Amino acid sequence: MERRDVVIIGGGPAGLSAALRLGELGVAATVLEREQEAGGIPRHCGHLGFGWQSHRRIWSGPRFAAQLRDDSKGLDLRTGHTVLGIDGDVLRVQSEHGISEIAAGRIILATGTRETPRSARLVGGARPRGVMTTGALQANVYLQHFKPFERPIIVGSEWVSFSAILTCRHIGIQPVAMIEAKDRISAPRPGDLIARLAYGVPVWTRTKLIAIEGRSQVQAVEIERNGARQHMACDGVIFTGEFVPEAALLVNQPKVILAGNVHGALKTSGACWREGRATAEQVARELA
Ligand SMILES: Cc1cc2nc3c(=O)[nH]c(=O)nc-3n(C[C@H](O)[C@H](O)[C@H](O)COP(=O)(O)OP(=O)(O)OC[C@H]3O[C@@H](n4cnc5c(N)ncnc54)[C@H](O)[C@@H]3O)c2cc1C
Repeated sequence: MERRDVVIIGGGPAGLSAALRLGELGVAATVLEREQEAGGIPRHCGHLGFGWQSHRRIWSGPRFAAQLRDDSKGLDLRTGHTVLGIDGDVLRVQSEHGISEIAAGRIILATGTRETPRSARLVGGARPRGVMTTGALQANVYLQHFKPFERPIIVGSEWVSFSAILTCRHIGIQPVAMIEAKDRISAPRPGDLIARLAYGVPVWTRTKLIAIEGRSQVQAVEIERNGARQHMACDGVIFTGEFVPEAALLVNQPKVILAGNVHGALKTSGACWREGRATAEQVARELA
């Protein structure tokens, strides 16, 4: 069985910065990334807002991800490698060569976080096309240059919900509204004013999505606004935020160390990058 000093699961900002820092400290690390290209979520966040904390630059997500890949040249970075499970210090890994096992002196879990999809939210109605999270929308728009709808509704009002507006604008989609069940938006104000005045997207608080309607594509949604039900025409639904750590591999694994968004609430990519480095320093001290 192959043996490595440190294996990092996830090649996003946290995992790559951890590997880089370990390399600087003289510890060889292997990064296992399930996608064919490393870089994590920033790969498909086409708007500006990345790179300041790590490189003192303001870049788009793909530019930041490209820089991280460039920084990682010379590291043992294995893309197309999905970790299926961890048993003590042994990882079960799937790649195009089949399933193999790697024993690791230390394991860093940097698998990030994902938005809650429709399936895990209590929303009734039909199951037509055009329902997705911001992450899926970004993959459609920035990676596949595909426009999945024209007039969607955005559910949620976290930072990432405003990122959904920017993604829509990038490809000429005009959201009909952003809705939030709470009394005020989750992102800081004046996010709602900017959405309305700069992007023409009204933001309705105290508004809840009840059901989705449509046969093949979304045709309308039923919402409850200030206690009253109404139907609203739209051709898509974007579920935003309500992030859940991607920590399925963590069950009963006390030896695994966490880095980045898999650890706690959603943070910026720069904060994750720094956390990766700090985790690397902790691991290097333990191995010294
Ligand atoms: C829509 C959106 C907009 C954002 N906008 C900004 C912004 O403007 N500025 C900013 O600083 N931050 C922004 N963020 C946050 C930023 O993208 C994240 O904080 C950052 O990507 C987290 O880094 P990470 O390495 O912890 O996780 P991720 O970037 O999620 O990387 C995790 C990696 O682990 C891999 N992985 C998962 N499971 C496995 C497995 N079993 N085996 C192998 N590999 C696995 C994934 O493929 C992925 O590449 C945004 C996030 C979203 C969702």
